Amino acid sequence: MKKVNTDNMKTVTYQNIEFEEYLNPDEIAEAVHRVAERINHDYHNRRPLFLCVLRGAFIYMADLMRQLTIPTEVCFVRLHSYDGMKSTGKIRQLTGLTESVEDRDVIIVEDIVDTGLTIHWLKQHLMNHGAHSVAVTSFLYKPDALQHEDAMPEYPACEIPTKFVIGYGLDIDELARNLPSVYTKKE
Ligand code: IMP
Repeated sequence: MKKVNTDNMKTVTYQNIEFEEYLNPDEIAEAVHRVAERINHDYHNRRPLFLCVLRGAFIYMADLMRQLTIPTEVCFVRLHSYDGMKSTGKIRQLTGLTESVEDRDVIIVEDIVDTGLTIHWLKQHLMNHGAHSVAVTSFLYKPDALQHEDAMPEYPACEIPTKFVIGYGLDIDELARNLPSVYTKKE
């Protein structure tokens, strides 16, 4: 696939806020590949169900899937805890879980683990519904923001400081998900 030229996109502006490039597409591809290699190794004799948390994880999910060599199944769910640039602190409804997770090895695919509230809630929900195991791969992980220890992702692609980021699936008020790089607020 031909690559979009992002040379003139080192900074972008959304909602009157200037963002600068933090991870470029090559760095992202490298990080995704490393995660895929670990999952291919750890799950080589299993058939995990990958649970993509929409909307943010759709790009990471698509890239990760194409690097996996193990048998996989996919499912897409929605779950909200964010509003604009700050967490609302409460989980709303989970929708879209059409597969049974009973006795399944589930791998949650997230865009970012921030406070960990979303993953904490989702992991408990899946275990309560009889999952055999639940692991998490998150494209980004903010270790200093984590408030729920059980939400630490087993397979983080990139650890980042506690800053608001956009791009590669991550939004600001539903915009910027399409950016091929990750951007952070310009200081
Ligand atoms: P948590 O429940 O606090 O871990 O937040 C997880 C969710 O908040 C993610 O799935 C994102 O949708 C959203 N989120 C957290 N940090 C950011 C960010 O820096 N940019 C965009 N969305 C974020």
